[in-house]
Amino acid sequence: MAALKRNIAIVGAGITGLTLAWRLQQRGHAVTVFEQSERVGGVIKSIRRDGYLFEEGPNSLLAKPPFRQIVDELNLHDRLLGPSPTATNRYIAVADGGDRRLEAAPRGLISALRSPLLSLTGKLRAVGEPLRSYPQHADLSVHDFIAEHFGQEVANGLVAPMLSGIYAADTTRLSARSALPRLWELTEGGNSIVRGAIRSRKEKNRSKSGRAHPASFRDGLEELPQQLASRLAAETLQLQHRVLSVRPTANEVILAVRDASERVSEKRFDTCMLCTTADAVGSLLQDLDSTLSARLGEIPYAPVGLLHVAGSVHDIEHPLDGFGFLARPSLGLGLLGAIFSSSLFPDRAPDGMHLVTCFCGGAANPDAAAVHDEQIAEQRRRELEALLRVRKPLRVMHRRYWPKAIPNYAVGHFRLQEAIDRFEQQHPCIRISGNWRAGISLVDRLEDAARLAAS
Ligand SMILES: Cc1cc2nc3c(=O)[nH]c(=O)nc-3n(C[C@H](O)[C@H](O)[C@H](O)COP(=O)(O)OP(=O)(O)OC[C@H]3O[C@@H](n4cnc5c(N)ncnc54)[C@H](O)[C@@H]3O)c2cc1C
Repeated sequence: MAALKRNIAIVGAGITGLTLAWRLQQRGHAVTVFEQSERVGGVIKSIRRDGYLFEEGPNSLLAKPPFRQIVDELNLHDRLLGPSPTATNRYIAVADGGDRRLEAAPRGLISALRSPLLSLTGKLRAVGEPLRSYPQHADLSVHDFIAEHFGQEVANGLVAPMLSGIYAADTTRLSARSALPRLWELTEGGNSIVRGAIRSRKEKNRSKSGRAHPASFRDGLEELPQQLASRLAAETLQLQHRVLSVRPTANEVILAVRDASERVSEKRFDTCMLCTTADAVGSLLQDLDSTLSARLGEIPYAPVGLLHVAGSVHDIEHPLDGFGFLARPSLGLGLLGAIFSSSLFPDRAPDGMHLVTCFCGGAANPDAAAVHDEQIAEQRRRELEALLRVRKPLRVMHRRYWPKAIPNYAVGHFRLQEAIDRFEQQHPCIRISGNWRAGISLVDRLEDAARLAAS
C-alpha cells in the first residue's frame, strides 16, 4: 500500500495513461482515467478481418525488460508472440543504376564491413571513429552527429533509412540529443561513440545481453491496452470524457470534464497526470502558461500512412524472409519501408497469402502519406511491387492515414524538456508524460509510466 493514498486523475487512456493507472493502482492510490474517445489504446488498434490481422498503429515492440515485466505481472505469456525464426533478416531498399532492389542490412560491425551498402572509403571513414576526438555540442541533427562520427555514407545510407523508419523523420532536422539519448550520452566530454560504448559496458560490468526481439500478441498489440484496462478497478475508466481544462489550487487540482451527454462538471483531485499528445497538453495548459502551451503546439509531428497489401506467395518473387525493409530517402520513394507482417508473426494472413504493411510519407515526403486517397495508395502499391518483384498485382486490403503520427524532436528539443521540468516544479500537482517528451516507442512509454508512478 502507498504510504500516502492519493486521489489521482489521468488524462488519456493510451498505453502511457493505462500503464500509469495500473502502476498507481498497484501502489494503492485511487485513480480515475479520463479518455475522450469510446475506446482505450490511443493509437494502438488491431483489426481482424477476412483471415488477416491489420495493425493501424504500432506493429510490434521490442521485448525489453519493461515489457517483459508487464507481461509477467499481467500473466500474458500464452498470448505473447515472438518473431518467427525466419524473420531475422532486415533489408534496405537501394538504387542499382536505374533499378531498385532490396539489399540485406548489416547486423553488426563485421557484416557492415562486408556489406556492399558502404564503399571502401565509407568503411575506412567509419572504422576510424574511435581514433578521433570530437567537439562538444549542445545538440546536433542526427545527420550531422552521425556524419561527424562515422561519415556521410553511414549517415545517409544506413542511419537515415533507419530513423525515417522509426520516427518517419528527416534526419537533418531531428535532434540527436533527444532522439538518440543513449548514443549522445556516450559522447559526453568529446568522446567517440565506440570508445564510450566500451567504457560504459566496462563500468556497468555488462556482458553482451543479446538483442531484444520484436514481440506482439495473438490478436495484435491492442491486447495490451485491453488487458491493462480490464485490470483496473470499477469506475476507474471514464470513456467519452474529455478533459477541457486543468486548474491547480494551493493543495488540489480541478478538472473541467465534458461527458458523453455533453454535460460539463468540475472534478477535484490531489494530482493530475497528463498523458496525451503535445497539442492536447498544450491546450490544457493554455491558461497556466501560455508560452509553454504555444511551444507544445509547435512540436512537429510526421504524417504517416499505413497500407496493408496482400498477395499470393506464388506471385511474389522475393522470399519475404525477414522483418521487412527500410528505404533510403535518396531513392525518392513515397514508401518509408514495410514490415513483412505474415513472415514476422504467425496467423496474420490466410494460408498461401502474404501480408505486407507499408509505412508511407513521413516528414520529408508528407504528401505520400495520404493513403486515404485512392491514387496515392495505388502509387505506393506500385512502388512496393517493383521492390518485391511480383508476377501479379498485389491487393490493398486496409489503409489508415495519420496526419500527425510521430513527434519529431527538433534540434534544441532538450530546452523544451527543461521548460516542462520547471513547469512541474512550479505546479507539483501536475505531471506530464507523452511520446513527445521522453521516447516514442511503446517500451519507452512503459518505462516512463513506471518512472512517473514511482515519483
Ligand atoms: C502509425 C504509428 C506506428 C507506430 N509504430 C510503432 C512501433 O511499431 N513500435 C513502437 O514501439 N512504437 C510505435 N509507435 C509509437 C507508439 O505507438 C506511441 O508512441 C504510443 O502508442 C503513444 O501512446 P500514448 O499513450 O503516449 O499516446 P496516445 O496513444 O496518443 O494516447 C493518448 C490518448 O489521450 C486521449 N486524449 C487526448 N486529449 C484528451 C483529453 N483532453 N481528454 C481525454 N482524453 C484525451 C486520446 O484520445 C488518446 O486515447 C507508432 C505510432 C504510430 C502513430
